[in-house]
Amino acid sequence: MEKVVIVTGASRGIGREIAKRLAKKGLKVIANYNKSQKEAEELQEELRKEGQEIDIVKADVSKREEARKLAEFTLNKYGKIDILINNAGISEYKLFTDETDEDWNKIINTNLYSAFAMSQEVIPNMIHNKNGLIINMSSAWGVVGGSLEVIYSVSKAGLDGLTKALAKELGPSNIRVNSIAPGMIYTKMNEKFSKEEIEEIKEEIPLGTIGEASDISKCVEWLIEDKYTTGQVISINGGWIIT
Ligand code: NAP
Repeated sequence: MEKVVIVTGASRGIGREIAKRLAKKGLKVIANYNKSQKEAEELQEELRKEGQEIDIVKADVSKREEARKLAEFTLNKYGKIDILINNAGISEYKLFTDETDEDWNKIINTNLYSAFAMSQEVIPNMIHNKNGLIINMSSAWGVVGGSLEVIYSVSKAGLDGLTKALAKELGPSNIRVNSIAPGMIYTKMNEKFSKEEIEEIKEEIPLGTIGEASDISKCVEWLIEDKYTTGQVISINGGWIIT
């Protein structure tokens, strides 16, 4: 049977592009969304017209019971989970001194706790099958820190810690765990920046351009084919951040 992959936050942006690429490759895709039902249904319909069937599942992955529901849906329907892509995420652009406990809980729960909960829900099946791949969608800010995005940076650095530690723990079960750390990619997440600000950012990027969601989905496809990469944070940022 084809590989079964859960993509969280697949209703738009990077997650949507990953879901499309993998469905077109013939994988069984479970595309998760939370608020954007219309967009998720449009994605399903668009792929159906091209001959690919995907499942769309509503779940707020920042909540344990909903993360569990997403994993259970997949196991009940397909009997296995080969790949988990923890992509769902939110960002905020605020002075650190203006941040509240609510901001902290919302961003950490959505970006980091979701990966903890989803990973716990799928790993027993992966261990049973002695096969698995988890990809955490991190960020350049997790690697170097981003001004006015402190909580976001913490959440992404936490994801990278999860990636590295879990890769060591799960390697003997043939489960690989990696982070992808995008720089700036054209999505709704960056609508907060004006055209002028985007132009200024482009000038800081050696390759002179903002990335596209397909630059990230190509890396996901490669990681799925690969056998020997684990515990890594793979930066895709046009050279914006070089460590
Ligand atoms: P986006 O266009 O805003 O999409 C975010 C996705 O996450 C949406 O599908 C949204 O679905 C989903 N989501 C948010 N909260 C959720 C929750 N509680 N449960 C389930 N789904 C949830 O953002 P994007 O740019 O594609 O970002 C995708 C990932 O890449 C994020 O983790 C982000 O931090 C990371 N990233 C992005 C960039 C960039 O420049 N774009 C750079 C570095 C890292 P609903 O609307 O249905 O809730």
